[in-house]
Amino acid sequence: MDVSHDVAIIGGGVIGCAAGYFLRRAGVARVCVIEPDPTYAKAASPIATGGCRRLFALRENILMSQFSIEFFKSFAHHVALDGEAADVQWREEGYLFVVGAGHERVLEANFRVQHESGVKVELMDREALAARYPWMRCEDLTLGVLSPEDGWLDPNSVLQGFRRKAQALGVEFRRDRVVELHVGARRVSQIELASGMRIRPEAVVNAAGCWAASIAKLAGMDLPVNPMRRFEHYVELATDLPRMPLIKDPDRLVIRPEGKGYAVGLVYSDEPRGFNFDVDPSYFERVVWPACAKRIPAFEGLKLKREWAGLYDECELDGNMILGNWPGKLDNFFVACGFSGHGLMHAPAVGRALAELIVRGRFETIDLARMGYQRVRDRVPYAERGII
Ligand SMILES: Cc1cc2nc3c(=O)[nH]c(=O)nc-3n(C[C@H](O)[C@H](O)[C@H](O)COP(=O)(O)OP(=O)(O)OC[C@H]3O[C@@H](n4cnc5c(N)ncnc54)[C@H](O)[C@@H]3O)c2cc1C
Repeated sequence: MDVSHDVAIIGGGVIGCAAGYFLRRAGVARVCVIEPDPTYAKAASPIATGGCRRLFALRENILMSQFSIEFFKSFAHHVALDGEAADVQWREEGYLFVVGAGHERVLEANFRVQHESGVKVELMDREALAARYPWMRCEDLTLGVLSPEDGWLDPNSVLQGFRRKAQALGVEFRRDRVVELHVGARRVSQIELASGMRIRPEAVVNAAGCWAASIAKLAGMDLPVNPMRRFEHYVELATDLPRMPLIKDPDRLVIRPEGKGYAVGLVYSDEPRGFNFDVDPSYFERVVWPACAKRIPAFEGLKLKREWAGLYDECELDGNMILGNWPGKLDNFFVACGFSGHGLMHAPAVGRALAELIVRGRFETIDLARMGYQRVRDRVPYAERGII
C-alpha cells in the first residue's frame, strides 16, 4: 500500500512525539510517526534520569532549557485530554554542579553566561558549600554553582503525555519499522516500512535516537552518533538526608532524590560504543558506590535496590545535538539526534524548532543554526563546556 503524508517522523520517542505535537500545533495536516515498539523497551526516553537544567555554557542550550522547563511546568495544560491532565511530577529542587581545583575558571565563565542569559544562579566557594550542605564532603571542592529553579521530572510521563496529545491532535502512529529510504532530486521521495507499506512524504524527521545514524545512512548521510551505554541505579539509605538538589560532582557522579531513595549514575565516557543493554553487576560496587560514599558519607550504608542500562545517542563530534537538514543535498530530511544525555530536557524546544524549520523554513524563536549538520560536514565542533 502507498500513502502520502506531509511529514513522516521516524521514531516515536520523546523527540518524535514532541515533533508530532508541535507540527500539528503549527497546522501541518497529515503527520505520521513510525515507531516499531510502543512499549519502548530499548528507547532512551522512558528511562532517563529526568534532570532538567539551565546549567549549560552555550546560549542555545540555555535558551532551549528555559523554554522547555517553563513548558514542563505547565505540561498538564499543554497536553490535557478532555480536561484530564498528565502529571510529570516536576520537582523544583535545583541543580548543583561542584568542581575541584583547576576547574574554577570554566565554572565561573559558564556562570557568567548563565547569569547574562537571565538564569538565577548562585556561585559558592568551599565554605559556603560546607555550610549549606553539611552532610556533603567538601574538602576536595573549590567551587559550586547552584541553579535553584532547575529540577527533575518523570520521563515516561513526558513521553506518554506528548504521545497521547499528538494522537488526539490527529498524528497517526504506525507500529512499523523503516527499512529503506529512496532519494531523488535532493529529497527523500519514499520511505519503505518492514510491513511493505510505502510512504511518500513532503518532509521527513529522523528522530530515531541511537538508530538515527543507520537511518541517515540509508539516505547517504553520515552522522557521528553512536550508542553509548550508561547505567542508572536506585538506592535507599537507612536514614534520609535533608532535601537536596540534583548534585553533579567532579567524578561525573549524579545523585538526586527519587521516591523513598535516590537515583544515582556515573557516566563513563570511554564506554565501548554499541547496542549493549547488559548491566555490568560489578560497576556499581567498583565505581559508583565509592564515588557516592566519597561525596556523601551517608551513602556508605546504602542499599542497592535496582539498576538498569540505557543508551545515550552520543554525538562524537562535540557532545551536542545535530538538528536540521543537509541543505542542497537532502532538503526535506531533518535529523534531530546526538542528544548525548540531554534530549529529554530539550524535547519541547526541539519539537518546536523542527516545526519552525519545516513549516517556515527557518528558526523563528531560538536560532539553532549552529547546531546544524554543516558543522559535521566541516568537522568543526561546537562543544558544550557546561558538562563538566
Ligand atoms: C540512563 C539515561 C539517563 C538519561 N538522563 C537524562 C536526563 O537526566 N535528562 C535528559 O534530558 N536526558 C537524559 N537522557 C537522554 C535522553 O533520554 C535522550 O536524549 C532522549 O530520550 C532521546 O529521545 P529520542 O526520542 O531521540 O530517542 P529514543 O527515546 O531512544 O527513541 C528513538 C525511537 O526510535 C525508534 N526506532 C529505532 N529504529 C527505528 C526504525 N528503523 N524505524 C522507526 N523507528 C525506529 C526506537 O524504537 C525508539 O523508540 C538519559 C538517557 C539515558 C539512557
